[in-house]
Amino acid sequence: MDPTIRQLSSSAYVVIGPQGATNFAIIKARDGSAALIDADIRRIDEVEAAMRLTGCAQVGYLIDTHEHFDHTSANFYFAERAVPIVASAACVQTMKDDGAADFARMLKPVPELYERFPGLRLTLPDVVFSETTHVKLPGVTLHLQYRAENGHSHSKGDTTIYFEEEEVFIAGDLLYTEVHPVTFFGNIPNWLTALKPLFETHYKHLVPGHGPTVDGEQNGRAYFKKMHEYLADFHGHLEEIKFGRKSEAEVAEYMRSGAYAALGKTRMVDRNINHFLTGRRF
Ligand SMILES: [Zn+2]
Repeated sequence: MDPTIRQLSSSAYVVIGPQGATNFAIIKARDGSAALIDADIRRIDEVEAAMRLTGCAQVGYLIDTHEHFDHTSANFYFAERAVPIVASAACVQTMKDDGAADFARMLKPVPELYERFPGLRLTLPDVVFSETTHVKLPGVTLHLQYRAENGHSHSKGDTTIYFEEEEVFIAGDLLYTEVHPVTFFGNIPNWLTALKPLFETHYKHLVPGHGPTVDGEQNGRAYFKKMHEYLADFHGHLEEIKFGRKSEAEVAEYMRSGAYAALGKTRMVDRNINHFLTGRRF
């Protein structure tokens, strides 16, 4: 399948995940190398095709915005090609703690990948930072900032990336656009706090972890605010369930209607509610 690639600026491209699947960003440097932001082993052909179509010769750095499988599972593939992999210390620690179980669970439906990539396993990033760092390639400066409020927002490793030369902001899964988010790995109150400074961030183009990219700071701000409103509203409704004032079905119905009726990935609503109530992670 040909990847859907959106060019945001002269050197920034995004592989847009079909139906709200994970977005991967490619920042092309002057020497033809690229910084690749997030990659999923299940979609490695899409990533490789995107590299070719954008004229990138090789990956200079792979950056993981956070620990989730759909963002980190191709670490193995790129580590084998001696690509340095950058992530926050909290992302790496969480992968150490929970990653192996997660990795096995996510690969269960696609066992053929173990044959295609012998030795395929959870692979930890090897360039680790705690609060901020930058990654440089010729003509490319990326500012990485750890954003998981109190160590846990959407995930424990949440990192944003700002491509200085072309003013592109990559939000990771702190932001979903036009699709229901995955909240059950997260801490919603902390996530709400983590979103606040993002209302004031500067950029010309904004890349969410899932969903369409956004042009312009005004539009971007509106999406960050929508995300905040969604999470605050959803969290309030989860509390209503907890205190017996609303049923799960009522809340699920509410989250699929009105302002939320047009959002994609509606299956996430039941999963988010169910996981919250049972305390199960999966
Ligand atoms: Zn995620």
